[in-house]
Amino acid sequence: MDRTFSLGPRRTRVRSFDSRSILPDDIASGKAAVWVCDDATRGFLPDTKNPVVVLPRGEEAKNWDSVLRVIDAALSVPLGRDGTIIALGGGVICDIAAFASSVYMRGCELALIPSTLLSMIDASLGGKTGIDYGSYKNIIGSFYPAREILIYPFLLKTLSETEYLSGLAEVLKHALIEEGSLFEDLRLRRNTVLERDVAVLNDLIPRSLAVKGRIVEADPTEQGIRAHLNLGHTFGHALESQLGLGVLPHGHAVAWGIARAMEAGTALGETDPAWAAEVKDFFASYGYNLDYRIPDIGEYLDIIQRDKKRKNGAVNFVLQRRRGNTFLAPLPVELLKEVLRRLSH
Ligand code: NAD
Repeated sequence: MDRTFSLGPRRTRVRSFDSRSILPDDIASGKAAVWVCDDATRGFLPDTKNPVVVLPRGEEAKNWDSVLRVIDAALSVPLGRDGTIIALGGGVICDIAAFASSVYMRGCELALIPSTLLSMIDASLGGKTGIDYGSYKNIIGSFYPAREILIYPFLLKTLSETEYLSGLAEVLKHALIEEGSLFEDLRLRRNTVLERDVAVLNDLIPRSLAVKGRIVEADPTEQGIRAHLNLGHTFGHALESQLGLGVLPHGHAVAWGIARAMEAGTALGETDPAWAAEVKDFFASYGYNLDYRIPDIGEYLDIIQRDKKRKNGAVNFVLQRRRGNTFLAPLPVELLKEVLRRLSH
């Protein structure tokens, strides 16, 4: 695939490859570059004479120190504004490198080679960059879409099962949001998707990313339909918080949340019950547990009320009537309790 998305005044070109190694640097087209990776991805670097910054793994790396290490490497080249910072890693590495690129000389070139499924179909596209500070996630950041995103599905072979399934839930979510054939293809190719077949992923990942691409193109500043991408997230985030962050992988919580969104939409009389059942079967067939019980419904509802996407005093839930027909609505507390109570029995 070779596709370009327009994000405000900037263009992001997405290419995907079914090769088993990262092709050496035509990415930076012969110009100077700095590579940013972590221990999990350094082994995939192509031969390069450019400096390589290897950051620690995990969310803790999203800090100023990492940004300054990238900037120090850029200065050591020295990289001009036409030089490229190239991230090879998951969402963490991509977010750090993108933020560093947005502030280095007020913005230099940026290429992302996402290495987790989540970063391939979500974090790499859309222009959000950032680091954490204090107890705040992504509190320091900028809007800076990458010039290039290069997708190499072979990278996913070494990803843990938990991380893979966590990203896969968002791929399945994209298939619900669009009206095209992604849903049917994911149903038909479940085994090869779970086996991480490179040729199959090389087809499906760019199509999943394109769902996000079309939405962020239509709504780059998050005024409207970008919220559709949060299908299942309000319910899912609250479950993640209640269980304690890190207990349930994000994607599993999203899958559970989508099941609740389907039930809530049905109880509201908006969601086609046959579609709700089909969605639950779809996620269950991929092995997601949709039946986690809520230990304390009152506490869970308190967490929902504090959702950061709350507007004008109300939490708007992302719901669906059927595939490709997504809408936002507040939900009465009694309806929420009923949906959650069904799980407690
Ligand atoms: P991550 O980057 O922490 O990667 C997860 C783990 O997998 C890490 O330990 C990493 O070292 C390892 N890993 C990465 N690639 C690997 C590979 N190919 N093989 C084996 N191990 C590998 O997590 P993530 O889920 O990719 O991203 C989460 C981050 O993305 C969060 O910080 C979140 O805020 C951010 N994010 C950003 C956006 C955005 O729009 N910018 C969107 C969603 C999430």
